[in-house]
Amino acid sequence: MTEPATIFGAGPVGSLLALFLARRGHEVVVYERRPDLRGARAGAGRSINLAVSTRGLYALHQMGLDEKVLERAIPMLGRMVHADGGAHFHRYGRDDREFINSMSRGELNRLLVTEAEKTGRVRIEFEERLVSFDAATRTARLRSERDGAEQEIHAAVAFGADGSASAMRRAIAPDATEDVLEFGYKELTLPAGPGGTFLLEKNALHIWPRKSFMLIALPNLDGSLTCTLFLSFETFEEIAAPAAAEAFFARHFADVLPLVPDLGARLAEAPLGRMTTVKCRPWARGTSLLVGDAAHAIVPFFGQGMNAGFEDCTVLDAILAREPRWDRAFAGLSETRKPDADAIADLALENFVEMRDKVADPEFVLWREVEAELSRRMKGAYRNRYQLVTFTRVPYRVAFEAGLVQQEILREVCAGAASAREVDYERAERLVRERLGTVLETS
Ligand SMILES: Cc1cc2nc3c(=O)[nH]c(=O)nc-3n(C[C@H](O)[C@H](O)[C@H](O)COP(=O)(O)OP(=O)(O)OC[C@H]3O[C@@H](n4cnc5c(N)ncnc54)[C@H](O)[C@@H]3O)c2cc1C
Repeated sequence: MTEPATIFGAGPVGSLLALFLARRGHEVVVYERRPDLRGARAGAGRSINLAVSTRGLYALHQMGLDEKVLERAIPMLGRMVHADGGAHFHRYGRDDREFINSMSRGELNRLLVTEAEKTGRVRIEFEERLVSFDAATRTARLRSERDGAEQEIHAAVAFGADGSASAMRRAIAPDATEDVLEFGYKELTLPAGPGGTFLLEKNALHIWPRKSFMLIALPNLDGSLTCTLFLSFETFEEIAAPAAAEAFFARHFADVLPLVPDLGARLAEAPLGRMTTVKCRPWARGTSLLVGDAAHAIVPFFGQGMNAGFEDCTVLDAILAREPRWDRAFAGLSETRKPDADAIADLALENFVEMRDKVADPEFVLWREVEAELSRRMKGAYRNRYQLVTFTRVPYRVAFEAGLVQQEILREVCAGAASAREVDYERAERLVRERLGTVLETS
């Protein structure tokens, strides 16, 4: 296993993977299509900020980087739901020690690239695009984004970390499915108030659920918030003109309109993003492997895409510790992770409906209150599906199945209850222990 490793893509997952491989003693070369994002040639790009949670933080911790990342992040303790003219806070975790972290994707990527280079074992070649890959001969064709010059390289051990539109995937899993959501997204910056103060609650993920669409906002270190509007492509077309966009906000998000100067013009010029779910099999062919979004891009509504890609690195590293052959280790990762990736892909799609529609629904609120009380009575042993995904490293497929059982229990114990006080908690606890015992043990 002394061969140098080649990674295509220096996004968050490719650069973290480079760190893991360097720590195992490998020399690593990374080919990245874009210019160095720390340099003057890097474009502004999207201002996406991400929620980093337990799975991602654990992988970063393995590389000694979790503290560094948390210094650059803002804790979000729950969701602030803006509906019916008011704002209501719903905690994410069991208490204030459980939260998710808002972090700029670009900033995180810059940190990882820098740390990877610092190891002395990782070389990153920027502005080199993977054009095609031949898994049988392990030959990659690269094209320079500067002058168009092409070259072929031999990649004995190759990783495709080249994102949702992966070029490497075509060679490894040509039958992949790529489902584009019929909703797109646009980002807007809600600027800081005087002296860098936050104009909305700082330590929350804000949601304006409007049934068939929604707006969310995540805090940034400088006091601004990045708002993301999720809307059908059709409606985006209807509000393409600045005046139409402002009228739309006046009608649906009246509290946000005065906080974003030139909102109509800003929205008109913001790029329209697409969201894709990628499912493929296998992820590996011989000594070539897909990781991160290249293998399993998901829609962003569970805040898990990057966290899942980081967890790929954790799982692969554990397999490599016991399996000396790359091909067997890669096949092992593909088999182990595929059911988990499918589960989080489905959960992420479901969560879109939950965020834009259900969070303001009385039954949803009642269920969350009952779950909070159950967790309190069971001294934290009960975790709802969101918490299993976000605050534990229980395999995603287990969290998925546990969620189904939890829904069944909640439906039974909440039947006829007008408030959380009317629920029979002894019965609820018994049902939880009977039906969820094994999940509780592993969480
Ligand atoms: C609006 C939005 C919100 C999100 N929120 C969250 C969140 O809260 N939490 C979370 O965990 N995830 C979130 N995600 C998902 C997250 O951004 C992705 O899962 C993560 O960026 C995947 O990392 P990656 O390195 O696998 O792929 P990418 O980030 O796509 O990186 C791929 C890299 O490969 C390079 N590349 C592409 N093609 C080639 C090629 N042919 N040759 C060489 N290089 C190439 C690209 O330039 C890029 O640098 C969100 C995504 C979106 C769109």
